[in-house]
Amino acid sequence: MAISFSPTSPLPRFSLAPSSPLRISYFSVRISCVASISNGLVLASSSHSVHKGEGGEGNGGVEFSVVTFYKFVSIEDPDGEVAKHHAFLKGLDIHGRIYVNEQGINAQYSGPNADVLAYADWLKDDPRFSDIFVQTSPALYGHAFPRLKMRYKPSLFEGGTAHLPMLDSTMRATPLTPAEWRNRLQISSNIEELSNKKTGSNHDRKLLLLDVRNGYEWDAGHFQGAERPDVDSFRYTDVGLSIHETDLLAGVDKENTDILMYCTGGIRCDVYSTILRQRGFQKLFTLNGGISHYLMTEGSAEWIGNLFVFDSRLSLSPSTYNSTLTTSVRSQIVSKDERFAKCYICASQLLEFRHRNCANLDCNKLFLSCGNCVEEFRGCCCSDCTQAHRLRPVLPGYKRYQKWHRYRDGNF
Ligand SMILES: [Zn+2]
Ligand SMILES: [Zn+2]
Repeated sequence: MAISFSPTSPLPRFSLAPSSPLRISYFSVRISCVASISNGLVLASSSHSVHKGEGGEGNGGVEFSVVTFYKFVSIEDPDGEVAKHHAFLKGLDIHGRIYVNEQGINAQYSGPNADVLAYADWLKDDPRFSDIFVQTSPALYGHAFPRLKMRYKPSLFEGGTAHLPMLDSTMRATPLTPAEWRNRLQISSNIEELSNKKTGSNHDRKLLLLDVRNGYEWDAGHFQGAERPDVDSFRYTDVGLSIHETDLLAGVDKENTDILMYCTGGIRCDVYSTILRQRGFQKLFTLNGGISHYLMTEGSAEWIGNLFVFDSRLSLSPSTYNSTLTTSVRSQIVSKDERFAKCYICASQLLEFRHRNCANLDCNKLFLSCGNCVEEFRGCCCSDCTQAHRLRPVLPGYKRYQKWHRYRDGNF
């Protein structure tokens, strides 16, 4: 299975929101075939946690993991850095996206456990990266990325960070440990201040919980009380940046309201909180290590559903991260928000979170859909798209699409 990201226009700046409603996200996730995920077991190793799959099906018995890490740190010679990494990676079986520039490194990659950890350990031998937070999760069906892309990239994060003071850690939100985060949420939900639904003036609010991801990620799972982001791609968010009355942060007391924000692994909050800091918001907090770190240490407390991930696995149950602290997935399908875990088209309740891209190549919207709607709309997100010219056929079973270039080149 391959997911790749397809830039379709020049990089917009993170802080710019288009005025018209978006139908195409800049980074659309393309799915060329499917792998389903079942629960893995988390085992401890000498240096990092690695994950033991159930027999390593399709991997020749070798256990694979996905590793993610990032760090904003000054790198004086990024090209030399890239060359060094290439030299080390030679001979290792690693696929994924590893980007380096003057502002640091951002990596998501998969491979046999021995290889993925060898690379992380090698990196940590360098004092600039010795404190880097390495996160792992199981990849039960082998590689979660189609190939290795290891290169210099002008921006470490979608939307562009070169114009932001990413090397100044005081500009970012204050990280809370998962236990501190859980504590805050539990206290807040007891006094019912978490719901982002407007109840009176934002100026009186003591706390706001922001899901700093994309709408379709929220659909698979989120923290109780977090409102669904209103965008297909959070890079287009104007939360806190617009002058609209409907802005979630409109009227918020910038000096006294605690803004708690979370994302998958932490980098998005580091970028977004820097932008909000520039706008004068003072009390910014983030979940250290993101949701994946939280699920690992706190289990599914305060969390609803699954975690969407940007690789071929798409969505992981909390038990993937911590099987002992997690209740069954089905019992977690309880959300105060009625839009959670619903088919995007017919709004029926879903028990399986199978995201798919719209069959219309020129839409490519990522959405959750029930099996009936996939058939009826032939993989499209709406009836308009079923009339489009560039339609990919729905493949049988859980397979989704061939590789993107095959359609791009006109081979339907
Ligand atoms: Zn449906
Ligand atoms: Zn569509």
